[in-house]
Amino acid sequence: MQILDGKALGKEIQEEVKLEVEKLSKKPHLAVILAGENPASKIYVNTKNKTCERLGIKSTVINLPENVTEFELKSKIRELNVDDEINAILVQLPLPAHINESECIKEISPIKDVDGFTPENLGALVSGKTPFAYPCTPSGIITLLKRNNIQISGKHAVVIGRSNIVGKPLSLMLLKENATVTMCHSKTKNLSEITKTADILISATGKRIVTKDMVKNSAVVVDVGIIRNSEGKLEGDVDFEQVKDTASYITPVPGGVGPMTIASLMKNTLELFLKQNK
Ligand code: NAP
Repeated sequence: MQILDGKALGKEIQEEVKLEVEKLSKKPHLAVILAGENPASKIYVNTKNKTCERLGIKSTVINLPENVTEFELKSKIRELNVDDEINAILVQLPLPAHINESECIKEISPIKDVDGFTPENLGALVSGKTPFAYPCTPSGIITLLKRNNIQISGKHAVVIGRSNIVGKPLSLMLLKENATVTMCHSKTKNLSEITKTADILISATGKRIVTKDMVKNSAVVVDVGIIRNSEGKLEGDVDFEQVKDTASYITPVPGGVGPMTIASLMKNTLELFLKQNK
């Protein structure tokens, strides 16, 4: 069994981005909108901000109050869309409950959409075209597989979870890489019968559901889930201790998909900058 070390690879990718940024006379600039007081969101935004600083990428965090209106949030996005100093826009999710997330995401200019969540960029993915940016977590997972020389083409990839930010775009990206893809979700019957046929098994549910009996011998197992257990420790969807001896490759939690997501965000910011300054 080999560990898919997202922490090490994430660092490597960050170094590559840093070297590219050093060569630029003008620096890429990421704007992050943080609405409300969600503690986890604050931590994520802080990490993104610090990583930008370390790589020489400018970053601006726009803090909006919990009671911000949808109109005000959309106006802020529109302002950033036409600001020549801003190359990438990220709206930290989840937004406060009274705000329609997809309506706000729709407002982001596709060429500044660093998460690849706008209808234009997701539509490009669906139709097999190249979006301005690929969603960061799926993109990080594909990079993690490719840089570890794991073949995707022709393999049966089973994705558990069908969210707009992970499961759905990831399935489309695996399809683009010529995997045969099966998507599973909470209404899937006989989940373990399906997962046992996976060459590549990716779980993105936030529920601790993947046990040894669900994994084929020598399968590649990617764990996207982030769960805080009763002892306050972070763990994933997969019972790592059980599954590690069955899998050929497995991601740890933490230190697997998480750092790859941040690395993809940095890479996307640089790439959007380069596309805008061709
Ligand atoms: P989400 O929007 O809550 O979606 C969860 C998905 O899992 C849904 O499609 C749901 O099915 C499915 N699901 C839930 N319970 C299931 C079960 N028992 N069997 C089969 N499918 C089940 O979550 P998300 O935003 O995609 O995130 C998923 C997890 O990944 C979370 O733990 C999140 O914290 C983590 N995450 C990590 C990163 C990272 O960088 N490491 C990035 C993003 C998310 P239905 O559609 O039928 O409800």
